[in-house]
Amino acid sequence: MATPVTLIPGDGIGPSIAQATTRILAAAGAAIEWDTQVAGMAGVARYGDPIPDSTLDSIKRTKLALKGPLETPVGEGYRSINVALRKTFDLYANVRPAYSIIPGGRYRDLDIVLIRENTEGLYVGVEHYIRVGDDPRAAAESVAIITRTGSERIVRYAFEYAARHGRKKVTLVHKANILKFSQGLFLDTGRMVARDYAGSIALEERIVDAMAMNLVLHPERFDVIVTTNLFGDILSDQISGLVGGLGLAPGANIGVNGAIFEAVHGTAPDIAGKGIANPGALVLAACMLLEHIGDVERAKRIRGALEQTIRDGTTVTRDLGGQASTEEFTDAVIAKLGAG
Ligand code: NAD
Repeated sequence: MATPVTLIPGDGIGPSIAQATTRILAAAGAAIEWDTQVAGMAGVARYGDPIPDSTLDSIKRTKLALKGPLETPVGEGYRSINVALRKTFDLYANVRPAYSIIPGGRYRDLDIVLIRENTEGLYVGVEHYIRVGDDPRAAAESVAIITRTGSERIVRYAFEYAARHGRKKVTLVHKANILKFSQGLFLDTGRMVARDYAGSIALEERIVDAMAMNLVLHPERFDVIVTTNLFGDILSDQISGLVGGLGLAPGANIGVNGAIFEAVHGTAPDIAGKGIANPGALVLAACMLLEHIGDVERAKRIRGALEQTIRDGTTVTRDLGGQASTEEFTDAVIAKLGAG
């Protein structure tokens, strides 16, 4: 039985990397029935909405989506794509793996997965200005909201992820030494959840500033990392940088009502339409999707073919130092699949 998955090819280079990705999955024999939908500028062009109801309805039905990069239309009157997706599907966990693929990088043998709380903290949008005298914007106040329920589900997700993927340690990153209430609640709740995994998965605690330094000095010491929204936003890009940037960075947004997998990079307007985009990040996102639905062996095989193609270095796209087109790179990955 094929698994129905919503496919949002996206804008800019999106359609070409989405086509490359679906070709690779088909060649690997993945049983997926794609339901192609639009969002971003393609959504505005067809329905006047960057996140049309028909696209949301498709994800409500499939509960799974693979999403290419989207261009957010500038100007008022359009709803935010990310807010609509996060709210509709309660996407509370942002999962960002970073592992060494590109040969000759600064760090070898990295295999880190950062799990960021996606719905709370300083990003809840509770902000206001404070008038002092005749200055209406003399001060600004932003409120960070952390709940026990939100903390528990993200830390539990991190431990469950570790258990499912045979990982041994979860590093909880916080700033409870200063923000004793909000960060303190996150840390205390995390410690409580960790007790359920004692003996199989270790809990390590790190203060965020020390963590930033440790990630540069000894990144190989980290396994699964879990943290609150703002810290996760910053540290997830940091770990992508450790393994060579956003070009090969996939991400997943996991929710109560659905899971959305994507490439972290944008629409790359400078190279859109030239047939030279690297589909690697979206292919890795599709591998995360396959793992999510239990097709672990196929994900491993596709990832292996992609890694081998990149390490060979003869048929890679320009951003990876080669001359190959998107199509030639895709063909090379498919050829390696056959050999594997
Ligand atoms: P970008 O990631 O699109 O591009 C940055 C640089 O990386 C460019 O030089 C681009 O050519 C290169 N690049 C990115 N992906 C590549 C790939 N797969 N292969 C080869 N080269 C690649 O970032 P930007 O220029 O800041 O943003 C462009 C647009 O994308 C904006 O409209 C932004 O809002 C949008 N965006 C969308 C998402 C998303 O939907 N997930 C994320 C980031 C940016």
